[in-house]
Amino acid sequence: LDDLKNYGLKIDEIVWKFELYFSSDWKFLSICLGFNAANSNFFCPWCQISKHGQNNNQTNWKISKEIEKINEYPGHNKRPLFYMISLNNWVPDELHIMLRIWDRLWSLVISELKESNQFDDVCRKEIMQEMSRISVNFQFWKEHGADAWNHTSLMGDDKLKVLKNFNLGRILPPTRAKKIRELWNRFNQIYFNLKTKDYDVQQFQFEVEDWLELFLTPDRIIPNSNRIEKGLYSPSSITPYIHVLVCHISEFMEIHQKWGMKAFSCAPVEKKNHQQVSFLPI
Ligand SMILES: [Zn+2]
Repeated sequence: LDDLKNYGLKIDEIVWKFELYFSSDWKFLSICLGFNAANSNFFCPWCQISKHGQNNNQTNWKISKEIEKINEYPGHNKRPLFYMISLNNWVPDELHIMLRIWDRLWSLVISELKESNQFDDVCRKEIMQEMSRISVNFQFWKEHGADAWNHTSLMGDDKLKVLKNFNLGRILPPTRAKKIRELWNRFNQIYFNLKTKDYDVQQFQFEVEDWLELFLTPDRIIPNSNRIEKGLYSPSSITPYIHVLVCHISEFMEIHQKWGMKAFSCAPVEKKNHQQVSFLPI
């Protein structure tokens, strides 16, 4: 690969130059970069944010690492496998951004139900009925002897159906459902824009920052009363994928405008993988 990048390939007296790109989900990308896991303190392959820095809620993290110096940054313990590919060309996969952020949004709703002791048979039945209404095949079950509930692991298409159409009002109070619905709708719109070739990069950045602000809506005291209107989520709920979406995707969109983010999608491979692993515990 190194030779290919430096010297190109000569076929019939024509030298073909190569620009190398790498795109995969987070785990494989980290392994190939010789980088630590997404749950460690320095978690981002592209910038030097730490878990601590994430709580400061800043969004001006830019791609700042260079592949030539990669082992000088904290967390990069091994030599990268593809050291000849510039870090700007290590592109996060749009599909995994949607899949993993969806996982977070869904698990935040389930946790909320559990915390308020609402996650009972009635609630699970409502969820399954609502899934059936929007044509998503979804079940809850318990493994023999285990306490935790498992549910069907959904594929990308089904996750999008839930994101767009699931009626949260069936399992949450109306004001709460409305708030979370807005967060989901806007994430769905962002994901659509992300895949739209030539979408305005500044506009996109504005939308993701706005979305993060909504995600982090704090609790609010209702004026002239002692009541508190519950906000949404805390900075500790931000996942590495959310960081990448908010801080780096617009940069990648700009750098790779001629291809569009969709060109780096892992969707066809994932469809195959899903047939091998179909269930996830929650
Ligand atoms: Zn970063």
